[in-house]
Amino acid sequence: MAEDVRAALLGWLLDAWDPELSLAGWRKRLAAAGWAAPTWPARLGGRDLPASAASLITAALAEFGAVGPPEGVGMSLAAPTLLQHGSGELQTRFLPPTVTGEITWCQLFSEPGAGSDLASLQTRAEPDGDEYLVSGQKVWTTSAHHADYGLLVARTNCDAPKHHGLTCFVLPMKQPGVEVRPLRQANGHASFNEVFLDGARIPASFVIGDVDGGWRVALTTLAHERRAAIPSPPAVHREGRVWREAAQEALHIRAPYRWYPQRAGRVDLLVPRALVTGRAADPYVRQELARAVTLAWTTRWTAQRAAAARKLGKPPGPEGSLGKLASSNVARAACAAHLAIAGPAAMLTGPDSPAGGVIAEIILSVPAVSIAGGTDEIQRNIIAERVLGLPKDPTLDAPVPFRDVPKNRS
Ligand SMILES: Cc1cc2nc3c(=O)[nH]c(=O)nc-3n(C[C@H](O)[C@H](O)[C@H](O)COP(=O)(O)OP(=O)(O)OC[C@H]3O[C@@H](n4cnc5c(N)ncnc54)[C@H](O)[C@@H]3O)c2cc1C
Repeated sequence: MAEDVRAALLGWLLDAWDPELSLAGWRKRLAAAGWAAPTWPARLGGRDLPASAASLITAALAEFGAVGPPEGVGMSLAAPTLLQHGSGELQTRFLPPTVTGEITWCQLFSEPGAGSDLASLQTRAEPDGDEYLVSGQKVWTTSAHHADYGLLVARTNCDAPKHHGLTCFVLPMKQPGVEVRPLRQANGHASFNEVFLDGARIPASFVIGDVDGGWRVALTTLAHERRAAIPSPPAVHREGRVWREAAQEALHIRAPYRWYPQRAGRVDLLVPRALVTGRAADPYVRQELARAVTLAWTTRWTAQRAAAARKLGKPPGPEGSLGKLASSNVARAACAAHLAIAGPAAMLTGPDSPAGGVIAEIILSVPAVSIAGGTDEIQRNIIAERVLGLPKDPTLDAPVPFRDVPKNRS
């Protein structure tokens, strides 16, 4: 089956690939043939292939030298959420331009007072004729500064308990009621934003799922976030308009993710750095290095075992939270090994610093892995309760209307 799919794609590419098309033109062709999102249903431009086919097709596109679909929040979070919960109208309106990269997305979930406890969010959406008016503040919104649409969770009912009065929306970002302010991080990049919503308008038909049923929709998005791959720059750059425009896209759209390989700890650099710096014989360095590499390999094998189980048709298990937690451990172990190799010079940045500043960027970026997409502590709670069947974490949540829940002013 895998070989048949690969052969079919490579055969199609021989005829269809034209490097002088525009990037959007090429992606439209890719999507029309069902190869841009092959795991989607055929009625929405996919090929009904199993999830296991996705990585195979990505690899075959790269092997042939053809540009693939866009990466980022659109394909990894917005599309699966719309596929599962969106109305037919939302799916036909938003999925095609998402798969071609003509529209981009951000995820408007976290607020100053609602991160791990997302259901405490206070952004309000009030019906106003055939629209909703939205007011409140979101924060840590990756890529909001160039997103066309936001996947928004807002409170529509303060009389219901906190998990029951939330609704998910598609929010058009380019409108007067939406103000995006970039935040600069310790590592020098500006990936996140504060987003201030002041009477922002959303058509009522842009509700995803049921009004007041947004928690279920948000859980779908979060499950995909735990599994999402970190977007990486294209491995190859070839001749032709498609590649030139893909490189331009990479400059702008992927800029917020430039440091993401560093936040994962750069295990790939450990052995070469130990050898080139002459530190490979140091017992402490060897121990730290072996620890990081062992963790990275066992994590990869766990992921492969989960992928193999899915291929056999077994339902997804706890690997989302286990994998997320493991990636934090790998990143921290790799960071410790990089520190052991570089010593105090790890703090230096600039062209003559270790690995041209990459080591310093690793150290400043690694903590983000254990926060983004749900913190380590939250993953441990999920594993304890849903995998090990331990008693639930004590909670202050009471089945009272959200308006009666004590909260900080937001
Ligand atoms: C790289 C990155 C990208 C991000 N991108 C986005 C984005 O695009 N959109 C978006 O909406 N958000 C985004 N976020 C925000 C992210 O989802 C939140 O930071 C995260 O959910 C944690 O919330 P918080 O920062 O409010 O921390 P808090 O929830 O306030 O947590 C503070 C500390 O308390 C601990 N804690 C909280 N509750 C419990 C508990 N029940 N048991 C044990 N310990 C607990 C936490 O583990 C943490 O250590 C991003 C964050 C990062 C780092």
